[in-house]
Amino acid sequence: MENLRKFEAWFVTGSQHLYGPETLKQVATDSHQIAAELDKNPAIPVKIIFKPVLTTPDAIFELCSEANSAPNCIGLITWMHTFSPAKMWIRGLSALNKPFLHLHTQLNRDIPWKTIDMDFMNLNQSAHGDREFGFITTRMRLNRKVVVGHYKDPEVVEKIGIWLRAAAALADARKMKVVRFGDNMRDVAVTEGNKVSGQIKLGYSVYGYGVGDLVKYVNSASPAAIKKKIKEYGEEYRLTKAVASSESLYEAAKIEVGLENFLKEGDFKAFTTTFEDLHGLKQLPGLAVQRLMSKGYGFGAEGDWKTAALVRSMKVMASGLKGGTSFMEDYTYHFDPAGMRVLGAHMLEVCPSIAKGKPSVEIHQLSIGGREDPARLVFSAQTGRAINVSVIDLGNRFRMIVNDVESVECPDMPKLPVARVLWKPLPDLKTAAAAWIYAGGAHHTGFSLALTAEHMEDFAVMTGIEFLHIGEKCDLNQFRKELMWNEAYYHIAGGIS
Ligand code: MN
Repeated sequence: MENLRKFEAWFVTGSQHLYGPETLKQVATDSHQIAAELDKNPAIPVKIIFKPVLTTPDAIFELCSEANSAPNCIGLITWMHTFSPAKMWIRGLSALNKPFLHLHTQLNRDIPWKTIDMDFMNLNQSAHGDREFGFITTRMRLNRKVVVGHYKDPEVVEKIGIWLRAAAALADARKMKVVRFGDNMRDVAVTEGNKVSGQIKLGYSVYGYGVGDLVKYVNSASPAAIKKKIKEYGEEYRLTKAVASSESLYEAAKIEVGLENFLKEGDFKAFTTTFEDLHGLKQLPGLAVQRLMSKGYGFGAEGDWKTAALVRSMKVMASGLKGGTSFMEDYTYHFDPAGMRVLGAHMLEVCPSIAKGKPSVEIHQLSIGGREDPARLVFSAQTGRAINVSVIDLGNRFRMIVNDVESVECPDMPKLPVARVLWKPLPDLKTAAAAWIYAGGAHHTGFSLALTAEHMEDFAVMTGIEFLHIGEKCDLNQFRKELMWNEAYYHIAGGIS
C-alpha cells in the first residue's frame, strides 16, 4: 500500500507587522513548535512542514502558488496566531488549488491567571484572529475543515489526522488512472455516469480498453511467474493439493500475472471488469481481483468505474490503519425481528484485507457468466464498526452516501462459495435501507473497517461533492427533508460543471 509519509502538509501561520519584530519572532517559534509536535504524533500520517510566518499579501500569494506546484504538498494547515487582516489573504486563497484545514488553536492550553498581561493578550489572540480568517474563507465560499481545540488535545490531533488522510487520497485521485475493460453491463443505470464530470470534480481519468487488450497480457504470462503466484497462494491461504494442481488455478494465476502486468505498465490504480464481456478469458477474474485489491488497487465490478475509484481512494485513506477495505455489494437480507442483518458479498470479488483468519482458495461453478469455473478466496470478515460508501451521479452533481454499520459474526454457511460479511446497519436496517434508497445509493459500495464517516466527509468537502450520512442518529423524516433542501441548494450553488 501507499506510504503516506511521502506526502507533506504545510503548516502556515498568519500574522502582520503591527506587533514588531520581537512578537513576530515569538509567533514563528510557537508555530514551529506546534508543527513539530504534530509531525511526530503517530496519529498524523504525513509530514508536517513548518513555513515562515506570513505577514503580507505577496508572501501569502507566493506561498499558495508554491503549494499548488509542489508535488508532495497535499494541503495547508492554517492558523492565525495573532490578528492577520484577511484582505491580505484574498489573492493567495483565490489561487490556491489544494485543500486547507483551519486549525483554531493556541500555544497555551490554559490562561495563566496570575501573570496574564496585555503583552500576553496581544501575542495569543487566535480567538479573534482566526475569526477574521474564518470570515474571509466563508465570504469567498471556500471549502475547508475547521478544527478547534488545543493542539495537544488527542481529539484535535485525530481530526487533523483524518483530514490529512482524505487530502492524501485527493492528491492520489488527481493523478489516478482507472482502466475499464469493456463497458457498462447490460442496462444497469447506477454504474453509469459522466466521466468528464468525474474528472473535473474527483480528479481521476477513466480509460476504456477492450478485454482483448487484457487477454494479450494474460496469454504472455510466463510459466515461471504463474508458478510463483501458485506458490504464494499456498503460503498465504488454505489450499488443498487437488486445487493447487488444478487447471483452473493455473488459469486464475495466469490471469493475475497478466492483469497485474497490464496495470503496472499503464500505471493504473483502479480497474473494472464485466462478466458479460470476457472474450478470450477462460474465467471471470476472481482470485486475481481479490489479490490486487489487497495490494491497494481499486475495483468495481460490471464496469463500475465510480466505485473502482472510490475503493482506491478509500484504500489510500486507510493506509497503515487497522482493518481492511473492499469492494462490496448488499446481497441479501435477514429480516428476523430479533436482529435484522444484511449479508454482503459479490460473485467473487471481495478483498481479503477484511478477512478474519486465513481465506481458503476454492473453485466452484459460477451460475452466471457462462465461463469455466473460477478460483476465488472464501472467508468471513472481521467484526467491528465499519462503513459502507456509495458515490452516485445525479446528473447535476455527485452525491456520496455513507452508512455506519457494525460487522458481526457470520453463522456457518457451508454451501456459500464466496467471501461474505454480515452487518447490522445503523440506526437499524429498516431506517438505513429506506434512507439509502431515498438517497439513490447504489448496490455497489466501498466497505471499510478502517475508516469512519468523517474521513469520507472530509474527502467529499474537499472535492465539493454532496455528502449524506446515515448513522446512529439518522431520523428518516429529517433525512428526507435534507434531500429536498440539498436539491435546492445544489441548483443555487450551480451544482457541478
Ligand atoms: Mn455487482
